[in-house]
This record gives sequence, structure tokens and C-alpha cells, in this order.
Amino acid sequence: MGRVKENDLRNREAERAQTVLGDLTLNSIDIFCWCNRCGHNAIITTDILINRFGPALAVPEVGALLRCSGCGSKDVATRPNWRLPEKIARHG
Ligand SMILES: [Zn+2]
Repeated sequence: MGRVKENDLRNREAERAQTVLGDLTLNSIDIFCWCNRCGHNAIITTDILINRFGPALAVPEVGALLRCSGCGSKDVATRPNWRLPEKIARHG
């Protein structure tokens, strides 16, 4: 009893946990995008994307709205451009 509901809730939580553009700007993380057709890739400043699409857009969905500047393909993938914790690794 109640197991189906529990699973349903977990699935919804997973959806909610999907990173949106607004999450990245808090940590100054940009978007890394690449073209599945020609391999062209670029880093786009998250602020620019938020100005265009709003902060509630999920990162994987950004690619569907972009067009490759190299070949014009709409087959573009996106992910957060996670940064290494340089401040911790470097002293001073
Ligand atoms: Zn391309």
C-alpha cells in the first residue's frame, strides 16, 4: 500500500531537481553547448540565455531553442559548464 504513490512522488522530485538556468546564474556557471551534427561547440553566458528565454528553462531544453552557428543545425545539446573549485586548489 502506498508504494505506487511513493514512486510517483520520487519521479516528480527528480523532474523538479532538473537544473534550470536560474540555478546556474547563482553560481556564475555558463552553458556549454555543442552541435551533434558538425561538432561545433561554444560556451554561452547564462545571463544572455535568461534574457532570451527566462530563468525557469531547464538546461537540457536550451539546446532545442538554439541553432548551430557553424552548420545551422538545430540538433544542439547543452549542459552546465561546471567549474572546478579553483579557489580551494589555489592558495592566495
Ligand atoms: Zn553544427
